[in-house]
Amino acid sequence: MIRRPWAAVDYEALMRAYPPAPEYFETAWLAPPEEIEATQLARLQERALAAAKVPFFERRWAAAGFDARSLATTEDLWRAPFYTVDDIRRSIEAHPPWGDYQGVLPEDALREPMRVYMSGGTTGKSRPTFYTQWDREVGAVLTARALYMQGIRPGDVVLNSWAYGTHNGAFAFDEALHRWLNCVVITTGTGNVTSSERQVEFAIEYGATAILTTGDYLLRLADVAREMGYDPSADFKIRALPNIGDRERLESRFGVECFNSYGFHEVQWVSVECPAHDGLHIFEDAFVVQIVDPETGERLPDGELGSICITELYKTGSPQFRYNIMDLSYLYPREQCACGSWLRRMAPFAGRGDNMVKLRGVNVWPEAVGEIALSVPGTEPDWFVRAVRVDRRDELVVSVVSTVADGERDALRAAVEDRLKERLGVRIGAEIVRPGDLDAWTEVNVSPKLKRFRDER
Ligand SMILES: [Zn+2]
Repeated sequence: MIRRPWAAVDYEALMRAYPPAPEYFETAWLAPPEEIEATQLARLQERALAAAKVPFFERRWAAAGFDARSLATTEDLWRAPFYTVDDIRRSIEAHPPWGDYQGVLPEDALREPMRVYMSGGTTGKSRPTFYTQWDREVGAVLTARALYMQGIRPGDVVLNSWAYGTHNGAFAFDEALHRWLNCVVITTGTGNVTSSERQVEFAIEYGATAILTTGDYLLRLADVAREMGYDPSADFKIRALPNIGDRERLESRFGVECFNSYGFHEVQWVSVECPAHDGLHIFEDAFVVQIVDPETGERLPDGELGSICITELYKTGSPQFRYNIMDLSYLYPREQCACGSWLRRMAPFAGRGDNMVKLRGVNVWPEAVGEIALSVPGTEPDWFVRAVRVDRRDELVVSVVSTVADGERDALRAAVEDRLKERLGVRIGAEIVRPGDLDAWTEVNVSPKLKRFRDER
């Protein structure tokens, strides 16, 4: 007996539990703290019982002495062991081909339509995650909330310029726009699939209010539009900007406010900035976010930068229960925001916890290097850091894009190196490259998360 999507998912119940935009911003977004926490605890208890039946969690929780029935408060969540991507890799090796961390398997697709997406596809073995119909729908509701806050409205025409591939990225946006925002999606894919000139034509001709891609590519499209004889600020009807890229440059180029947001493949959208632009509100009806020390996994206090350890509260398929994702951020204490919301806020994505390099005794994050390099006038918002071994010493080299004349490149390189030395206290090499030179390294046309660092030691 095959169950179709509408039989597998009770859509009325789904919308009551996870209100979509715009209703969400008049209801759960403004809920009082007691209500937020009560909802979280009830869902957390339910998710713990479900995860306990998945072999991966059953095994790890037994080893750590954690009993899923012992969750009396959200605070108790700290007693459950966290896991990282390495544990997922080991699970796949020991239990090929899907690993034992999945809550569902292909045969369950008869009971409920399912999808599978891969992470880590370009380097090393792919890590699959199954999503039930319910998981896809709620995930799309969450993504649609973030897109709505960023300025996209029902009925808009939107270009989706992410890569439709084995990764969730493009599909998560597509489903959010199509199913929960009633937008008309033009499925251009990246510049490799639909040329930049065609993307510009589509955007201008059909009055697209957003082009979903990186900030760098959007700025490049504006340049292409100018080369084609358009005036990007007048001819584009852009109303929502990407959350990755040089915010100031994007805002000034398009005259639109930028709203940061955060999400990742396995759990979809987690948080979004509000008009107060002071931290990203977490969708707490669907997540508990904790911050831990990237090296030890120990709890860190509010305000301290560490790795995001996430527990989703909404799924029916593969659980993420204390997944230490190694993305860096920090938490704000719970207090009411100027926008009226009590939802906890987190800082924007601040780099990768596993990318830290110890350089002559100083801890350096590649993202900090990139940010400082871009603060030097004459640089374009595109960079890449490599860790290399020179004369038995660890060194960092930052490549920065610039369009300055050949005769000015040496002076710019020296200026970047001087500023890095001044700000970080260690010498870091710089090189100046041309637009497009870093695309193969950053994977700008392939992946929704730009790569900014490579360890070549
Ligand atoms: Zn707010």
